Amino acid sequence: MRTFWKSSDTRTKRSRQCMPRERLERRNNYMDFSFTEEQELLAENLVEFMDREYPESLIKECDEQKIFPVEANKKFYEAGFGAIGVPEELGGVPADMVTMCLVTSIVYRYSWAGCTYSPLSIMNAADKASPEIRTEMLEGLMSGEKRHSFGNTEPGAGSDAAGIKTSYKKVDGGYVINGHKIYNTYASCSDYNIITAKDPEIDDPYKAVTLFAIPNPTPGMTIVDLPTIGQWLEPTCETFLEDCFIPDKYLYGKEHGGWVQLMKHFEAERLLCAAMYLGQAETAFADLCAYANSRIQFGQPIGKFQLIQEKVCRDKIILESMRNMVFRTAWEYDQGKSIRIDANICKLLCTEGNWQICDDGIQILGGLGYCTDHRMQRLWRDARVGRIGAGSSEILTKTIAKDVLREAGQYGGGTRALGI
Ligand SMILES: Cc1cc2nc3c(=O)[nH]c(=O)nc-3n(C[C@H](O)[C@H](O)[C@H](O)COP(=O)(O)OP(=O)(O)OC[C@H]3O[C@@H](n4cnc5c(N)ncnc54)[C@H](O)[C@@H]3O)c2cc1C
Repeated sequence: MRTFWKSSDTRTKRSRQCMPRERLERRNNYMDFSFTEEQELLAENLVEFMDREYPESLIKECDEQKIFPVEANKKFYEAGFGAIGVPEELGGVPADMVTMCLVTSIVYRYSWAGCTYSPLSIMNAADKASPEIRTEMLEGLMSGEKRHSFGNTEPGAGSDAAGIKTSYKKVDGGYVINGHKIYNTYASCSDYNIITAKDPEIDDPYKAVTLFAIPNPTPGMTIVDLPTIGQWLEPTCETFLEDCFIPDKYLYGKEHGGWVQLMKHFEAERLLCAAMYLGQAETAFADLCAYANSRIQFGQPIGKFQLIQEKVCRDKIILESMRNMVFRTAWEYDQGKSIRIDANICKLLCTEGNWQICDDGIQILGGLGYCTDHRMQRLWRDARVGRIGAGSSEILTKTIAKDVLREAGQYGGGTRALGI
């Protein structure tokens, strides 16, 4: 795939030198923000598919009944969209990160998690599953018929992700696991619940963690659903592990290598997570604009009132910032650059931005926004957890600030510290 942006690297030593005006202009001529023809064609086909297979009536029904749209998801994979971004040797269609973010954002315009698109989960399974279960796992994921859940969070270990207490013991022919996971998305319906556990013999928390793929059901593993205020297409669960024995073949990756393995795709996962919230915000923004134009009060559309225009303007600025940040970071990833700071900025910007847009959406829709007939309330409920899960806004803020200040310190101040 061609990349969609060809600017020079603003962080290289050369470009940080002072540039004459005409050179700067010449460089700017190379900036290209458009998607490639292939990406545009793919987006068109995907939108057409999603309009047909994921109509709002289906998602509304699934949300009300708290069920996952199994058939629509299966069709997504049958149509080949689920293979986008998966390496060729695994039967996929290789794609760059820009394309994966594009697909993710379009899919999430239609529903929160009504589709299991996740090329990174497939790559994770290819990397980590033992030879005995690898083929079965990959076939299940590539057909969209199987799905995994992932549980690290525990009642005593949330933001402090390394503070888990779940432990395992090697025994003849396998492992015995004891512990308690919480907010374990989709665990009750998953085929494998992938969990983290520590070897109690090792003190260093980062070296003690091992991943296990526990088939669901397994004796000793009890999963219960937790009531939540949103994201109802997939259950949020609590998992209890009591002397849960699993054979050796369910070791997921290297023993004691769990932390390193989790970090392997960490930044890409965070970026794709931001693309999900971008997709949701695009829908909320389209809905609030349509309503501002059509709702008549005092003899004119409410969009003519300046206090409504202020919200529309603010949300447009937020949405465009989200888009620019997500696709620029994806482009950086495709160029092999570090996205350590930018992936965190994307997640923070997109979850906070999406929340603001959905909340403005409720306000602009007035009473209708508060009623369940309109999807805005669903978007608003689904948006809320973005600021808590997978790195809360507070944790991201402190991490970004720490990394930016460290980077600034390396350059000794001035605009060079900002990569300019
Ligand atoms: C719907 C849902 C689905 C989830 N799915 C999964 C899943 O599939 N797998 C999984 O492993 N986990 C999952 N989680 C867990 C999620 O990642 C955690 O909720 C998150 O890490 C925060 O942990 P906590 O809820 O224990 O909050 P805490 O860590 O207790 O934090 C409480 C508050 O304190 C703030 N805080 C904590 N530390 C600091 C600090 N150093 N500085 C400033 N503020 C701080 C937090 O930002 C937050 O506002 C899910 C959570 C939810 C709600």
